[in-house]
Amino acid sequence: MAAPSLLRTCLVSALLAGAPMAAALLAGPMLTSRAMADDADAPIGDAIRDVPIFDAHMHYKEPAWGPYPPETVIELMNNSGVAMALVSSTPDEGTIQLFEYAPDRIVPELRPYHGDAGSGNWTKTAGMMDYLRDRLARYPHEGLGEFHVHRIDPEDRSFLGEIVALAVQHALPIHVHSGAAPVALFYELEPSLTIIWAHAGMSEPPDVVDDLLSRHPSLYADTSFRESEILGNWQQWEPVIKRHADRLMVGTDTWVNSQWTQYEEIIASNRRWLARLPRVTAEKIAFRNAQQLFGRQIKHPH
Ligand SMILES: [Zn+2]
Repeated sequence: MAAPSLLRTCLVSALLAGAPMAAALLAGPMLTSRAMADDADAPIGDAIRDVPIFDAHMHYKEPAWGPYPPETVIELMNNSGVAMALVSSTPDEGTIQLFEYAPDRIVPELRPYHGDAGSGNWTKTAGMMDYLRDRLARYPHEGLGEFHVHRIDPEDRSFLGEIVALAVQHALPIHVHSGAAPVALFYELEPSLTIIWAHAGMSEPPDVVDDLLSRHPSLYADTSFRESEILGNWQQWEPVIKRHADRLMVGTDTWVNSQWTQYEEIIASNRRWLARLPRVTAEKIAFRNAQQLFGRQIKHPH
């Protein structure tokens, strides 16, 4: 698709440079085949603006419900070319509210946090497994998370085993915000798990991300919250991104309302680093990987 426009560009620049029309036309077929070979590796560049995005890390937490009602969320997605989003919320009612408003745009996942149960104590909250089982029985969640494992507490091991068993029983991926060690622990508990590593480990360096993704073929990662770092540290990230292009996804992490305020800018800065990749790679990370993982078919919102 890009070859004809590249050819046009070549013709235009040849004409602008004062080359005779005939010479430019004669050069056409050669340029076309060369351009096509080069195109596969050429960065997608500005054309990334027309590639739909699957936002693989969205939250719809209670403080957002008032200022950002569901129609506003969908409007923000439309304005940013975001076709679909993987959503979890504190409490889960936010996710369900958004899902019921736009079931073809929202993939709901079940976050354990509610009431007094939050990121620091959810593994020790009485009745948590019953809560999760009840929500899963009532709503069509397609993932378990995003939840935090700040550190490995040996006391949590049997509880985390129950979480893993629940994920396997319902064939759900788990979406984990943690460093590399808890991800390794989850795979030790259940090698067949599918894990989405939130923020690709948030502060784990590219070589650690590379290593963990290489070790575990069913590990995916969303790069939310790291877009500036990826742009600023492109040399280190580029080989890791290209090596694991089948399992990376982008996201916005709307964990506080200021992320909603900046939603369109966050998507735009994700497009800035995706623009540096060849189209095939950029499209995988922009939406194809998530689409495949959740068995959904997105439609472009425009
Ligand atoms: Zn998050």
